[in-house]
Amino acid sequence: MKILNFLTVAFGKAMVKVLKLAGRDAGNFPGLVLWTLNHNYLKVFSADCPIIAVTGTNGKTSTTNFLNRVFGSLKGKDGKPAKVITNMQGNNLDTGIGSMFLQYCDMSGHIDADYLVLEVDESHVPVIFRHFKLDTLVILNFFRDQLDRNGEVETLILKVQKFLKTYKGNLVLNADDPNVARLGTANPKNKNVYYYNVEKYEGATSELYEAGEGRFCPHCGEALVYDYYQYSHVGRFCCPKCGFGKAEPFVQIKDLDFDSSAFSIEGERYTAKHMGIYHLYNLSAVYAAAKLYDIDHEIIHKVFGEFEVNNGRLERFEHKGSQLLLNLAKNPVGANMTLRLLNQDKRRKELLFVLNDNIADGKDVSWIWDINFSIFNGVDRVITSGTRAYDIAIRIKCSGYDPERIVVKPDLDDAAAEIFANEGIKYGIANYTAIQPTRAALKRFISK
Ligand SMILES: [Zn+2]
Repeated sequence: MKILNFLTVAFGKAMVKVLKLAGRDAGNFPGLVLWTLNHNYLKVFSADCPIIAVTGTNGKTSTTNFLNRVFGSLKGKDGKPAKVITNMQGNNLDTGIGSMFLQYCDMSGHIDADYLVLEVDESHVPVIFRHFKLDTLVILNFFRDQLDRNGEVETLILKVQKFLKTYKGNLVLNADDPNVARLGTANPKNKNVYYYNVEKYEGATSELYEAGEGRFCPHCGEALVYDYYQYSHVGRFCCPKCGFGKAEPFVQIKDLDFDSSAFSIEGERYTAKHMGIYHLYNLSAVYAAAKLYDIDHEIIHKVFGEFEVNNGRLERFEHKGSQLLLNLAKNPVGANMTLRLLNQDKRRKELLFVLNDNIADGKDVSWIWDINFSIFNGVDRVITSGTRAYDIAIRIKCSGYDPERIVVKPDLDDAAAEIFANEGIKYGIANYTAIQPTRAALKRFISK
């Protein structure tokens, strides 16, 4: 068996090396090959450090990057900065994680690190952690996403729930998403369940404002009653029949001040680079996970106040007198979140929307009809681009927006030139396979 493990690792490492020599990214491929040869290949790897994993529909990459920063600020075993191994670029399937392990493990498959901080696709949590002892699992939210691959949201939640039935490690849950909070009772014997949330913010509504999923009690089927919705189906809810909801938070972000980008946790004041409500939920999750490891608050202050993920997650681009804030949106909730930021901004602005329909996006782009374009605050012009530039233009037109102000530029370089054609405030939304090409096109235009 040992020899077989050795051969697997040696073969995998050789693939990584060849790909690197060829100037290619070792993202998924070596893991995919090993998986094809043996579906249980992940068991060749071992690690004896704490493993912290992040899953959920939206915000995984950002939250993982923040946790990586936090844990990377600690001291490691040898007194040097802690060695954190993480898949920051979002290769979050078992094949991507396996490929990454190949780059860091020794020939026996052992991964030497102080912490592993992993972003994991919701459906791959049970697959990956069958082989590793997971110390902490952070669950952010469950929304509809890329239906072609994942199937219904409920199927996904049940998959995670099944895994949690025997899981005894730390479980960090969003108290305000019923789809997540319900998982707190998956294993009644697990005493390590911790909830986080964010206090009601000024944009919260009393009615559901955007498409939401978790409207019925997962335990008894009764319609949930909400005090308020923060965004989509995330908010303060309770089941009038069985009492599900209103979990006592272990961490709560409160006293939000949008003008000074500040908030409090446990009586201490923190600042953030962005005050988008979904971002604050991510920060609350980060704080809750950090609290479990007694991390010094100074580190949290620094990471919250200074760190930005970029990589198309609320990334800023500047050109002459213009500023563009670009954000990834893989689903209606993600797009609605960026539109909320845009509408919170009282200045005149323009929007760039890039929509692709490649396999990884899901071929079906009907999700754009669940984006709430009805409130478009001070948007002078919309530029659409991507392989489905016309679909998104039609969608925006059908919301009642003046078609004369919509400019369709399927080519991304043309779209980048168009959005910067006049000076001002800009917002950008791009879906999954569109985000990196959009960043590249913006950078090309700016560096001209
Ligand atoms: Zn109930």
